[in-house]
Amino acid sequence: GDFPIETDTLVIGAGPGGYVAAIRAAQLGQKVTIVERGNLGGVCLNVGCIPSKALIAAGHRFEHAKHSEDMGIIAENVKVDFTKVQEFKAGVVKKLVGGVEGLLKGNKVEIVRGEAYFVDSESIKVMDDNSSQTYKFKNAIIATGSRPIEIPGFKYSKRVLDSTGALSLNEIPKKIVVIGAGYIGTELGTAYANFGSEVVFIEAMDEILMGFEKQMSSLVKRNLKKKGNVEIHTKAKAKSVEETENGVKVTFEVKGEEQTVEADYLLVTVGRRANTDELGLEQVGVEMSDRGVIKIDKQCRTSVSNIFAIGDIVEGPPLAHKASYEGKIAAEVIAGENAEIDYLGIPAVVFSEPELASVGYTEAQAKEEGLEVVAAKFPFAANGRALSLNQTDGFLKLVTRKEDGLVIGAQIAGAAASDMISELSLAIEAGMTAEDIAMTIHAHPTLGEITMEAAEVAIGSPIHIV
Ligand code: FAD
Repeated sequence: GDFPIETDTLVIGAGPGGYVAAIRAAQLGQKVTIVERGNLGGVCLNVGCIPSKALIAAGHRFEHAKHSEDMGIIAENVKVDFTKVQEFKAGVVKKLVGGVEGLLKGNKVEIVRGEAYFVDSESIKVMDDNSSQTYKFKNAIIATGSRPIEIPGFKYSKRVLDSTGALSLNEIPKKIVVIGAGYIGTELGTAYANFGSEVVFIEAMDEILMGFEKQMSSLVKRNLKKKGNVEIHTKAKAKSVEETENGVKVTFEVKGEEQTVEADYLLVTVGRRANTDELGLEQVGVEMSDRGVIKIDKQCRTSVSNIFAIGDIVEGPPLAHKASYEGKIAAEVIAGENAEIDYLGIPAVVFSEPELASVGYTEAQAKEEGLEVVAAKFPFAANGRALSLNQTDGFLKLVTRKEDGLVIGAQIAGAAASDMISELSLAIEAGMTAEDIAMTIHAHPTLGEITMEAAEVAIGSPIHIV
């Protein structure tokens, strides 16, 4: 056997969960080793959040360039060089991945390349192509993330794509079918629609973007339909796919009727599965649910006391900022601090048109829990900045506790919702009331004033709405 290398904290996986946990643990004085079998930065930086937002931003620019007649812009012959778009995307990813490596090294985290496998509750083996090395640890943090689910009958190929495939096409499809209009499918479908593809969504649920309030998702649906090159089938069940010479033929069922659509590509985005199946977890007795999700307590501790788990492999929304948040908690707990997870302030965002963002309780969720709430709304159309940006679509809704005005939730549909939601996460985290927000001076003219105005509505004294 090999001579084991000893470390204090061993992190498996260098996505937004693992690399953040490693840095925080090192900051707190631990000797830290991080093992990664692929690229630093995980799904998020390489094939998730970042490259998708680069494609979406390029698609928006193109769409806006073509359609700003309302503002007096007439741009003829606007073209896309998709190779350049992909180069732009790759450049952003490369910069960030390099940045993560620099940050890990700067914090003296040892980076080990290879695949980790538990031997027992105090050691792992790391395998790369032709060698294996054992590491002994005091504590371990599992942050191995997730991968796209493959549904029976829809095997991924050159024409049947998962999100990774859809991010790395080297041409703009003439037509693309998207099975699953959750946030990943909606974002990628919208990007290609903006680049000019015909897009057909097939969604099994009643609505696209389930999980968001219907008032929000229907704004997105309306804008997608307005584009003219997007078809949306809800309550539709994908049946089969057949690969043709240079495309696919997809069969689906709506209202008991079978339909067939031909396209260049099929994108399947129906959910993700936790990467917990090849880690040897059974060997060490780490408890999992049926779906292969690792069970943790409020300190991110698994059923084995010196092994922690964070990110997409544990319960909760599979989002990068949730993974990073849990990473910091796990590292702090290992260092002896008294940290604990509180999920209420974790926002969820969709980079759709308009953007959607939600944090804490919705009005309906609060009522379900028997809370008495005030839900106060303010429209983007009554805000000067939104008007001057020509982006008046949407609203902000603030959910406060009736007895004392405490902010317990917020939903935003509108331009820059993804940035605006942070103020409301802060309000929840800091235990602020609607009055605190209303009393805060927001610069004029900004979209941030919408938040202030909604807070004024909540306490019954709005200035710019009657
Ligand atoms: P991951 O990022 O999956 O990282 C896990 C790492 O562990 C990987 O690098 C993997 O190679 C490594 N690994 C796995 N097993 C082993 C092993 N045995 N040994 C060594 N290494 C191993 N989230 C957002 O918050 N906002 C967004 O806008 C957003 N957009 C997305 C768009 C797309 C197209 C996709 C697919 C996802 C998106 N997400 C977004 C989700 C986000 O990417 C994930 O929630 C996040 O990456 C999870 O982080 P993680 O650290 O848990 O795992």
